[in-house]
Amino acid sequence: MILNDLEDLKQNNYVVIIGSGPAGISVALQLEKKGISSVIIEAGDIDFKEKSQSLYDGTIIGESYPDLKISRLRQFGGTSGHWGGNCVEMDNYDFERWPIKKIDLEPYKKTAYDILNIKGNFYKKSFNEDLDVFNLNWSNVRFKDKYYQKIKDSKKITLILNCPLLMLSGKDGVVEYATVKKKNKRKIKAKYFILAAGGIENSRLLLWIRKQNENLLDNKLPIGKFWMDHPYHSVANGILFNEKFHNYLKKSEIEKFFDTNCENSFFLSPNKNFLKKFDLLNTSINIGIKQLDKNYKKDFLYKLKCMAPNIIKKKLLFNESSKNYEFNISLLKEQKPSENNSISLSNVKDELGIPKPILHWTRSENVRKSSKIIIENFANFLVSNDIGRIAVDEFLYNNQTYEHKNGYHHLGGTRMGLNKNDSVVDKNCKIHDTKNLFVAGSSVFTTAGHAYPTLTITQISTRLGDYISNI
Ligand SMILES: Cc1cc2nc3c(=O)[nH]c(=O)nc-3n(C[C@H](O)[C@H](O)[C@H](O)COP(=O)(O)OP(=O)(O)OC[C@H]3O[C@@H](n4cnc5c(N)ncnc54)[C@H](O)[C@@H]3O)c2cc1C
Repeated sequence: MILNDLEDLKQNNYVVIIGSGPAGISVALQLEKKGISSVIIEAGDIDFKEKSQSLYDGTIIGESYPDLKISRLRQFGGTSGHWGGNCVEMDNYDFERWPIKKIDLEPYKKTAYDILNIKGNFYKKSFNEDLDVFNLNWSNVRFKDKYYQKIKDSKKITLILNCPLLMLSGKDGVVEYATVKKKNKRKIKAKYFILAAGGIENSRLLLWIRKQNENLLDNKLPIGKFWMDHPYHSVANGILFNEKFHNYLKKSEIEKFFDTNCENSFFLSPNKNFLKKFDLLNTSINIGIKQLDKNYKKDFLYKLKCMAPNIIKKKLLFNESSKNYEFNISLLKEQKPSENNSISLSNVKDELGIPKPILHWTRSENVRKSSKIIIENFANFLVSNDIGRIAVDEFLYNNQTYEHKNGYHHLGGTRMGLNKNDSVVDKNCKIHDTKNLFVAGSSVFTTAGHAYPTLTITQISTRLGDYISNI
């Protein structure tokens, strides 16, 4: 049900969820399935409102990063209102430093697929000795469109819009009430509180809550630290020799995983042995291919001529019948968790009296080093099998700053772990040394892998709903 007047909300609730993005809604849906009522407090309106969005303002210190007002959405359904819908499973080895393993999320896979309308399967097959080929599935779900009516009709989920959380109060690890504001301020009591306000706000709100309540949250907790995104950059251009490429795929029995007859993409990633051998960051090697034509970039041909003159001479690249492919390689990289990448509080407060966030963000040199090793490995593979050639961008061989985009994936800040010195939540997403305060969303990610995060967020949040229903 949707509640318009805060006065109509009863005082003693079972679960209060702060935020109605994929994380908050997934928790509420699982609780509903188990017959448990919850109240979702959402800061924004049903639709985008400039005034609400302006409260997502913040400062960035370090390397270039998208404006914090555009890299997330403050409205019902959260950032799923403008996400890309790409879904990828994290790898088994991404969980090596987590207190849970990938297998712990298996029971929630089907529910997560249902929530995200994922119809296909995920596969991962060996491409060669060092690399795997994997696929993406696409979700068409905007949580606002899929879940507004469902929540309106629900007897177990109560949604209150335009009602930001201002503070959680309590002592000795027990949250007693939340202070929210809808026209007027009001205190809401509940047995359990779940912060699901997104990958920056979760840290920001907790830092502010700790500052105001010395007895509620331990000072040691590294709130805001080990923040990550997935740096994304183009690293090379190349050509694939059609016939030899297909012969290789056929011989390796992986042809059915490729569809290279039209403009398309395929995705490779380093396997566990390769990652370990060179201490690499996990990486999605995104290969966008299309048929080679005469409009191909001249600077690439020049590079290729220097690097592989015989190819230009002998291969008759533009022969219509050869149907060779041109491709561009971009890498979506894991970011090594570092205390220096973090969310902290500014001295400037927003209209609600909460300090604005500061994002401290730099890519480690490891990103460049690891990209270079991976791309050289792929280049050598192409040459040794005479499948193609690539020209690698120069920035991988010097110290110059290089252009990059980010995945808009806000990860870490309230990471999961066993120890309160280097993590904020335990394996059940409960904040260490608290009795009833949980966090949902990608801020609990211990490490980032290379996978788009929302599928994993949905699984972890469903698991959290399940956990709370069993307490
Ligand atoms: C341009 C773009 C493209 C993306 N593409 C992909 C993709 O292809 N695949 C993928 O997996 N991920 C993608 N993402 C990331 C994806 O959108 C997020 O992972 C996902 O939305 C996170 O869900 P969440 O519920 O944790 O946070 P959010 O979706 O950010 O939701 C947080 C909610 O909390 C509310 N809130 C905030 N503060 C308060 C407060 N004080 N009180 C009450 N409520 C509050 C917000 O209004 C919001 O509704 C993309 C993101 C962007 C920006």
